[in-house]
Amino acid sequence: MQMPKPNAEILARKAEIVARLRQVLPASAVIDDPFETKAYECDALSAYRCPPLAVVLPASTEETAAVLQACHSMGVPVVPRGSGTSLAGGALPTEDSVILGVARLTQVLETDYKNRFITVQAGRTNLSVTGAVETNGFFYAPDPSSQLACAIAGNIAMNSGGAHCLKYGVTTNNLLGVKMVTMGGEIIEIGGAHLDAAGYDLLGLICGSEGQLGVVTEATLRILAKPEGARPVLIGFDSNEVAGACVADIIRAGVLPVAIEFMDRPVIRAAEKFTHAGYPDVEALLIIEVEGSEAEIAEQLGKITKIARRHNPVELRESQSAEESANIWKGRKAAFGAMGQINDYMCLDGTIPVSKLPETLRGITALSKQYGLDVGNVFHAGDGNMHPLILYDANKPGDLEKCEDMGADILKLCVEVGGCLTGEHGVGVEKRELMHSQFGTDDLDIQMAVKDVFDPKWLLNPAKVFPLDASEGRRQ
Ligand SMILES: Cc1cc2nc3c(=O)[nH]c(=O)nc-3n(C[C@H](O)[C@H](O)[C@H](O)COP(=O)(O)OP(=O)(O)OC[C@H]3O[C@@H](n4cnc5c(N)ncnc54)[C@H](O)[C@@H]3O)c2cc1C
Repeated sequence: MQMPKPNAEILARKAEIVARLRQVLPASAVIDDPFETKAYECDALSAYRCPPLAVVLPASTEETAAVLQACHSMGVPVVPRGSGTSLAGGALPTEDSVILGVARLTQVLETDYKNRFITVQAGRTNLSVTGAVETNGFFYAPDPSSQLACAIAGNIAMNSGGAHCLKYGVTTNNLLGVKMVTMGGEIIEIGGAHLDAAGYDLLGLICGSEGQLGVVTEATLRILAKPEGARPVLIGFDSNEVAGACVADIIRAGVLPVAIEFMDRPVIRAAEKFTHAGYPDVEALLIIEVEGSEAEIAEQLGKITKIARRHNPVELRESQSAEESANIWKGRKAAFGAMGQINDYMCLDGTIPVSKLPETLRGITALSKQYGLDVGNVFHAGDGNMHPLILYDANKPGDLEKCEDMGADILKLCVEVGGCLTGEHGVGVEKRELMHSQFGTDDLDIQMAVKDVFDPKWLLNPAKVFPLDASEGRRQ
């Protein structure tokens, strides 16, 4: 993975730049000591690291605007950062950039149960949004597995999803409005506490724009009343492809569970070892959750298990208690962390039409043999959102490059079968060069023209999303 050469002129002005930032923020909100900025040198795509020039932690929208205005006038690039859990390198800094972290923006600003919305500062973690409303019987639906740590800011930038997004949609379907600061320091509001806004769908444009159009400081989110009840069923198969075919059949039958999650044997074993969730030692496992009243749950589970039985499962276990349900989810939610305990891995994120699951899983197995690198699969199967985890040895020369090449081939396979390079993790630096395999030069040019409008100098997270050769002229 290449990053552009840092601008030597900016590096030479570090002291002056830091001094200017200290004029607009309290001293404690500006970090420039290389030992301290090390904490910001990567996100969860930790194979790539680079210390930033400095880090700023504003505590309000106004402070954010002051920082951006200062950086804009000095011509210094800015990389917005939520909690740094991006798996695509979205928050990876360059040596000549300032990291703008929103970790101090964590307040709940307004809660309205009658109109079902909550307004929060964007540094608030995903799980703590639900935490703020659950005693009143509400929740915020998008639930990335990283929800304990990741911030709403990052969720909006990456249009994040999660296990329960099959039914409730991803971030863009649950976002009503944002307050955002442009690179020039202008504070703008888009959308609000209502269903839609007049004019173009600018909110749809901001959601998923990977920190390239503005820095989000506040978000108004839809909250939902908690369902009466929910119950997962765990279904084991002796083949990945058969499990994939079962998912495709369930979706085709028109049943809409809240979640259909898939894990294969390497992930099942790692998750079981890590959490003792009680998973069977099978080739592939589906966790399917339905919700509603007791009668609705029984009806949906009846249909699902009938379809599953046609695929000869080796295990079929309906949860019998709240404790058992929590255990079933505990293993899945901890699966990425569990894999990280046993191996270095790169987590991919491609989307495919659900009917192509068996074919794609077959292709991934073939690529794993071709490259000689093992793969674990854990993903949101109901949405066709694949997360192959390629296992490699970070200390073995050449292994990372081999892993990158194999990852590129898997994502190209997703595009070939009619899917997309990314489902929920975004493009970042990870899939940046692969954008050529999905978009022609004209397509990329039109997308970059959108950034030109919001950030004409290309200072906001400039080295992400667009292939470096395509964006070179603009970045300079
Ligand atoms: C163990 C694990 C499990 C995960 N599971 C899921 C999952 O199930 N679903 C899923 O979708 N993702 C998942 N992720 C990926 C990651 O958690 C999401 O992409 C998340 O939304 C990132 O949020 P963050 O606050 O950490 O953002 P960061 O990593 O800090 O940044 C992500 C992007 O957002 C931009 N950004 C940050 N703050 C702002 C802001 N204020 N304004 C504008 N742009 C901003 C950054 O520049 C960057 O491009 C997982 C990650 C891990 C490590």
